[in-house]
Amino acid sequence: MKAALLYAPGDLRIEEVPRPEPGPGDVLVQIEVALTDGTDLKTFRRGHPVLARESPAPFGHEFCGILDGRRVVAANSAPCGACDGCARGEQCRDLSFLAGAYADWIVVPERIAAVNVHDVPPGVEPEVAAMVEPLACCLRGIERAGIHAGDTVAILGAGPIGLMLAACVADAGGWPVVVGGRPERQELVELFGAESGAGTGADVVIEAVGSEAAWTNAVELVRPGGTVVMFGGLPRDARPPVDAYRLHYEELTVRGSFHHTPATLRAALGFLASGAYPWGRLVTHRVLLDELPALFADPPRDLLKAAVVP
Ligand SMILES: [Zn+2]
Repeated sequence: MKAALLYAPGDLRIEEVPRPEPGPGDVLVQIEVALTDGTDLKTFRRGHPVLARESPAPFGHEFCGILDGRRVVAANSAPCGACDGCARGEQCRDLSFLAGAYADWIVVPERIAAVNVHDVPPGVEPEVAAMVEPLACCLRGIERAGIHAGDTVAILGAGPIGLMLAACVADAGGWPVVVGGRPERQELVELFGAESGAGTGADVVIEAVGSEAAWTNAVELVRPGGTVVMFGGLPRDARPPVDAYRLHYEELTVRGSFHHTPATLRAALGFLASGAYPWGRLVTHRVLLDELPALFADPPRDLLKAAVVP
């Protein structure tokens, strides 16, 4: 079968490899479509300490495929059920991440197959169903944000994640304001239930850029007594400056949000199937697997997500 292998930053190759063999409890899924996302683009550019540990590394983690004649989606991880985080009902401390969706076939390991593989509801396009993983991360972020009805929620970042977060905030009863992004995103911002704005004085700020500047900016924007959710990850050694005066004297709450849970994954699949928002508009490009390295090497300016077909 064909698979994309990341040899080094900037060096992505499509190669002929043996079809993977599922072990006991694993399932073998034939990929119908995989989606690109911002993490993959970052990993392509500068490598990734967790997602691309080996060389060459399998690549891609958002997908929809066929398992025993049924259309399914799978998350790229599942909680271990045994660690301290799992025991407390918090995020699992022992997550490992499935990659290899840019390929003809993928083996989903037993741990994920047991809880985080789901049949796609009828009528949901494969490329929409494949968004279940990022949308589940967004729903986790909304959970962590503790949004109340009527809250103004500033979202830093107008990419696919920012737009998904906007839809989640709107459905939670908040007023999403998307900060940043080019004027041509305006139409999409509105379609996903939000408006564009500066976000100053928001009740809640969600950082979804993943830069030190945006972390600092998120703490600057929120109102006194407000909540900031750090959704975008930074490199391990990052130490973004924060305004200690505001944190202390204005009693800000700062929380992290990472990844998803089985509950938010199930909710995300239902949310996609509801058709409440034009999810399909987030897929702006379609390429064959062979064309993927060229797409990553020179991403189109208007790229949100690309559907990659083997
Ligand atoms: Zn765990």
